[in-house]
Amino acid sequence: MGQRMIRHQVEEGLSLYDEKNYDAAIKKWTIALQKMKNNRLRFTTLGHLAAASRDRGRNKDYLVYAVQQIDIAHELDENNLRAQAYLTLSRANEMLADYFKAVSYSRSTLQYSPPGDSKQVYAYLVMADSYIGLCNFSKVVECLDKALNMSHEHTDRMMETQILSTMGKVFLALKDFPKALLFQRRALEMVLSNSAFATEHSENENSKFVRITKLKIATPLRLMGDLVSATKCVEESMQAASSLGDRPVQAKCLVCIGDIQRSQNNNEVACKKYEAAIQMLQDMNDRYSYTLAMIGLVKALLALNTQQNTANDILATALSTATSMGNKLLQARCHLLNERIHKSENRLDDARNALATAQRLYQEADLLCFVCQQPMGMQPDHIQILTCTHMFHERCIADLLQKWTRQAQSCPKCNQKVLFSRSHISLACS
Ligand SMILES: [Zn+2]
Ligand SMILES: [Zn+2]
Repeated sequence: MGQRMIRHQVEEGLSLYDEKNYDAAIKKWTIALQKMKNNRLRFTTLGHLAAASRDRGRNKDYLVYAVQQIDIAHELDENNLRAQAYLTLSRANEMLADYFKAVSYSRSTLQYSPPGDSKQVYAYLVMADSYIGLCNFSKVVECLDKALNMSHEHTDRMMETQILSTMGKVFLALKDFPKALLFQRRALEMVLSNSAFATEHSENENSKFVRITKLKIATPLRLMGDLVSATKCVEESMQAASSLGDRPVQAKCLVCIGDIQRSQNNNEVACKKYEAAIQMLQDMNDRYSYTLAMIGLVKALLALNTQQNTANDILATALSTATSMGNKLLQARCHLLNERIHKSENRLDDARNALATAQRLYQEADLLCFVCQQPMGMQPDHIQILTCTHMFHERCIADLLQKWTRQAQSCPKCNQKVLFSRSHISLACS
């Protein structure tokens, strides 16, 4: 096959992709790649394949294509290609919940791209997401601040929406549900206003972001008790995802629908949703969402009070998955569930031990409030993050906050001057 013919095949793949015929596009590119001699074209085609695999939830394939891109970038000895390939590699590792690797590859992206380049903003975003996975929230805020400061130099408004959305994820993990909701709503508003002047490509990206964000809005809504609005959001997201074959969003919607059903005491329906989600997420190697689905399933089984042993087995798997990811908050949540089980079976010593283990994990994640020494993120509460990246219960630093508008105050933990700065991400919604 001639090289011109191969180029043509790559183009055909792109048209198929635009028609949302993803599997056909992947097939076209895979065949074209076999006889492709031009390294630059190989690099681009691998990029198409990586993006399509990610959209279909084939995260392992996504990783493999990124690794192949790295080889080509080294062979061509071009830093720009290296930066791009490392960015894809870091995102792939983040999606596979290999957070340390993801952080390390994001650093390579920073190293190989020129200062202020848009890839640097995205590298900080992957790093922030990975640090959420590792429950290192100070680092998350630090990365988001850097991303936010750099994003002002770019016209790509998707950057800012992603920064807001990641901040929403932080507050969700810390169980400050109103703030989580606020950030996700801001992100959604921004992306909806973007779509007014979107090109065809950015329109696809926008609509993808809309369905993901609607799903992310549903979770805090449910946890704040607004099940009607939560259901509406997740159903809209599910409908869009199903019609486009967006399996990653479909699977996460199933978990959310399971959670809503469980909140309404429809535990049998909830179990079915979780089981369907678990199968899909296992298939995608999405260990983070997989663990969330298992925790939900355990809670539904416990409420049904019929399959205690099954619930225990699933909880053990959830705990070992959370441990393998290095996610202390998910581990703590598993131990707290264990505490509940032990209590219900009147094993009070075991219950106390489980609680102590959970508390130790909060401490290890640096999630004890410096003022009151109580864990943050264990119970729903208002959390405030200062510009030095330290966080506290809002009520514990209420006095400090009140004096803010008058003069700069010092952080109780590090004594650094805490300035009221609008560019600071944690304050962007207050
Ligand atoms: Zn406190
Ligand atoms: Zn501080």
